[in-house]
Amino acid sequence: MARTQPTVTELIEGARQRNPRALGRLITLIENNSPRLREAMELMAPDTGRAHVVGITGSPGVGKSTSTSALVTELRARGQRVGVLAVDPSSPFSGGAVLGDRIRMQKHALDREVYIRSMATRGHLGGLSSAAPQALRVFDVAGFDTVLVETVGVGQSEVEITRTADTVLVLNAPGMGDGIQAAKAGILEIADIFVVNKADRDGTQALVRELRNMVALATLGPDDWKPPIVKTVASEGTGISELVDLIQQHRVHAERSSAWQARRLERARAEVEALALGNVRQRFIRNGQQRVEAIAADVRDGRTDPYTAADVILEDL
Ligand code: GDP
Repeated sequence: MARTQPTVTELIEGARQRNPRALGRLITLIENNSPRLREAMELMAPDTGRAHVVGITGSPGVGKSTSTSALVTELRARGQRVGVLAVDPSSPFSGGAVLGDRIRMQKHALDREVYIRSMATRGHLGGLSSAAPQALRVFDVAGFDTVLVETVGVGQSEVEITRTADTVLVLNAPGMGDGIQAAKAGILEIADIFVVNKADRDGTQALVRELRNMVALATLGPDDWKPPIVKTVASEGTGISELVDLIQQHRVHAERSSAWQARRLERARAEVEALALGNVRQRFIRNGQQRVEAIAADVRDGRTDPYTAADVILEDL
């Protein structure tokens, strides 16, 4: 018997009930840059911005997945509904394969108030900058109180993804080579909370001191949030309750200042810009390339200049 594909309205209705299949299908629409996305985003727009988005970043092996799992446990104990979005901008694979392997998260697998999903963003029209906010909208519709966004890949994308968060955790751990690992990725300036994980290991105090000195060097106004440093042993759940308290304090502080709205404006701005540029690029690939070839000969032979030629192409789009 042929089964008809659920409509976007049906999917969103399912997402409101936190039906994992509906949630998964909506995120797949985003990954695949589906033509149905436009309708989905239009319907979900009023729900935008409900969840507190917490970004988790740090070098591989520092304990991001272990901490994410521990945070899910703690937030659930506090009665929250928790979403986890693991973003892998480098992977062409979609559909939760990455997280399926993550045994540590499986204890949450049967909890309907928890939804965990990884997302590949390579094929998306606007790339990571618009795919992540779109996925967050799906979590918003489903009524998750907190969404933990974890980056799987390394490099610049880590910085980019944390820009979509309301609160950014930068994880470090002792015994992982010299100095503060996060400094290499250039994410120190976006940290709201520094987490020293693996605090059961030697070198913890030295790392805490190093971070403290660094925070002390930052120029902060009297009302600015001063990034606190918290020690955790994620594998045992130690320090996770304090970390959740700090996450909530950061939210309260940010909401009282203009920081909360400013960051969300930045998220929306990046989303729109990425979509618009992606759209131009797509039109260019579809219609513009032949025009360029035609006009390139004129530029080569000096019949026109390159600026005028570019103007002609853009007008045609
Ligand atoms: P990720 O690559 O940043 O996601 O790191 P993982 O969460 O996969 O952790 C890397 C390794 O460190 C795993 O073997 C964990 O069991 C271990 N680990 C995580 N947290 C701690 C901790 O607090 N103390 C110790 N000793 N090991 C930890």
